[in-house]
Amino acid sequence: MRQQDPLILGAGPAGCAAAIVLARGGAQPLLLDRAQTVGDPLCGGFLSWRTVEQLRALDVDPLALGAHPVTQLRLFAAGREATAPLPHPACGLSRHALDTALRQVAQAAGARLVFDHITAIEPGVAHGKAQDWPSESLFLASGKHDIRGTARPRHSDDPALGLRLRLPATTKRRDLLTDAIELHLFARGYAGIVLQEDGTANVCLALRKSALAEAGGSPQALLARLAAQEPALSHRLGDDWNTARVESIGAVPYGWIARDTAPGLFRLGDQAAVIPSLAGEGISIALASGHMAAAHWLDHGPEGAPLYQQAFARKARRPVAVARLARTLAESPRAATLAALAARYAPQAIHALASLSRIAAPPPLAQPARPA
Ligand SMILES: Cc1cc2nc3c(=O)[nH]c(=O)nc-3n(C[C@H](O)[C@H](O)[C@H](O)COP(=O)(O)OP(=O)(O)OC[C@H]3O[C@@H](n4cnc5c(N)ncnc54)[C@H](O)[C@@H]3O)c2cc1C
Repeated sequence: MRQQDPLILGAGPAGCAAAIVLARGGAQPLLLDRAQTVGDPLCGGFLSWRTVEQLRALDVDPLALGAHPVTQLRLFAAGREATAPLPHPACGLSRHALDTALRQVAQAAGARLVFDHITAIEPGVAHGKAQDWPSESLFLASGKHDIRGTARPRHSDDPALGLRLRLPATTKRRDLLTDAIELHLFARGYAGIVLQEDGTANVCLALRKSALAEAGGSPQALLARLAAQEPALSHRLGDDWNTARVESIGAVPYGWIARDTAPGLFRLGDQAAVIPSLAGEGISIALASGHMAAAHWLDHGPEGAPLYQQAFARKARRPVAVARLARTLAESPRAATLAALAARYAPQAIHALASLSRIAAPPPLAQPARPA
């Protein structure tokens, strides 16, 4: 590997977007991931209209991958149900399908995919379990996972957790969930449900640790408790949910934004900004950051990292702030009831929140150029 070639750490949406834009701009990026086989990372699987738009610009068409079309938001809170149209069509797709397609497009564009598990980062070098990877341009795209030397700050009295289970495809679920992303709000958290390309239902919860602790720390006990409280959720979970594997992720630093960085270190995706997942805009942020970081590198080389990071922080500020507000409202039972009423009687309020929590898509690259 040449020292000046960009090294991208993580082949999720952020890393792949950067690799595609860099390779199309004439660079020879090395895309590195710890996983040789694309898994199905913990994620709600909702692709917003802005995510879809950005994916298409990268030549990945979610509908051609079989994504489930979604045109409305259905909100459940305190026994109320309300449906509001989404501002634009969105869809549901597994991360396995999405990440597989993105890696393929990155490789076809000219990125080289290699495998190692990075354990620490120092200026100019990533230390892997297999070898050291020197590069004067490191693109940090390890997503939810922090790497020693570049870890994000995490301090919260009641940290956020993510849980996910995939429920088998059934006619009943298809009939209940067709066309919609559902949000079931409960005190200190929510469950999002959307159908994916194979008809399975992705049930993803984001909640405070204290809510899980009250259920004895058991995700199954928590789900049983929520199902007993909310008939609509119970109906969707059906009687086969407790055979599904529940995956979890801890201490998600929702709301954090990287405001600066050192020359040569570009922070992307969840390593650049963590939007509350209720907004369903994390993948969009990942794609936008990957694209924008690559464009800065093509224009300015490794020295462009601080310029990129500051510009991306400004771009992420509004969507992250709006999503934080939505999360605060959703976590409070009283405010959640008002949100359900707003969805029914003033859908334009939901429309505005949904629109304002989107990140602006980066403009297409005008003149691909590479630093001399
Ligand atoms: C509960 C929950 C639900 C969500 N639901 C949605 C949703 O419905 N829609 C949405 O748009 N967003 C959602 N998000 C957010 C979304 O999942 C993330 O914002 C998005 O995955 C970030 O993409 P990324 O490329 O930055 O990182 P990731 O998708 O996490 O990819 C990181 C990559 O880096 C690799 N990697 C990690 N560590 C190392 C290492 N040490 N060495 C080498 N490789 C490494 C991993 O294998 C992976 O391939 C949700 C998040 C949570 C927590």
